[in-house]
Amino acid sequence: MENPQEKIGSLQRRGFWRDLQSLWQGLGLTWRHLFQARERRSPLHIADPNYFQQDTGVVTLTYPYESLPVPENGRYRLHNEIDDCIVCDLCAKICPVDCITIESVKATEEIGETSDGTKKRLYAPVFDIDLAKCCYCGLCTTVCPTDCLTMTKVYDFAEVDIKNMIYHFTDLTPEQAEEKKKLWADQQEAIAVAKAEAMKARQQQKGE
Ligand code: SF4
Ligand code: SF4
Repeated sequence: MENPQEKIGSLQRRGFWRDLQSLWQGLGLTWRHLFQARERRSPLHIADPNYFQQDTGVVTLTYPYESLPVPENGRYRLHNEIDDCIVCDLCAKICPVDCITIESVKATEEIGETSDGTKKRLYAPVFDIDLAKCCYCGLCTTVCPTDCLTMTKVYDFAEVDIKNMIYHFTDLTPEQAEEKKKLWADQQEAIAVAKAEAMKARQQQKGE
């Protein structure tokens, strides 16, 4: 039977060999990675058949000089091609977090066509999307009748000031917006005057 001192010595010897073995394994791993670091993985799309074949080499990318390709159906920064927007408000209505703000002004006549041939009759003095609130659900792009609201591949758009996360898509200056509002108001006034005069003339005819 071992006395206590022999038992302690035996445990210390076993611990020493176990630590040495662990150190040796760790060094082996380090040397293997150093050796493999002569190669590096290329930034492949996850759908690439070779994506999982590259199991050795440096995996870190030198972003922003190189980056992983993003999927075609990825949902990143929104963009509104305002020339194709008919200001129908559907996107704002469906947005679950109310991050789209649209103000519309009626035009006095047709103001053009979108690229799919839809007639445009409304101006948008305000078309803002607060991308700090957006949850990137993509619902607004789904309902857009002219496909002018799309998700782009831009994902790196962090800002220091959160106010800069509000994207403005209007193509009108405040002065132009005021001018369009006035044109509409003047047209409505002229229509009201014309209606009143027509009514008066009819009443006079009836009285004769
Ligand atoms: S992606 Fe979703 S949350 Fe973002 S603006 Fe569109 S509807 Fe709103
Ligand atoms: S749904 Fe499309 S067309 Fe309608 S207001 Fe929104 S962006 Fe414009």
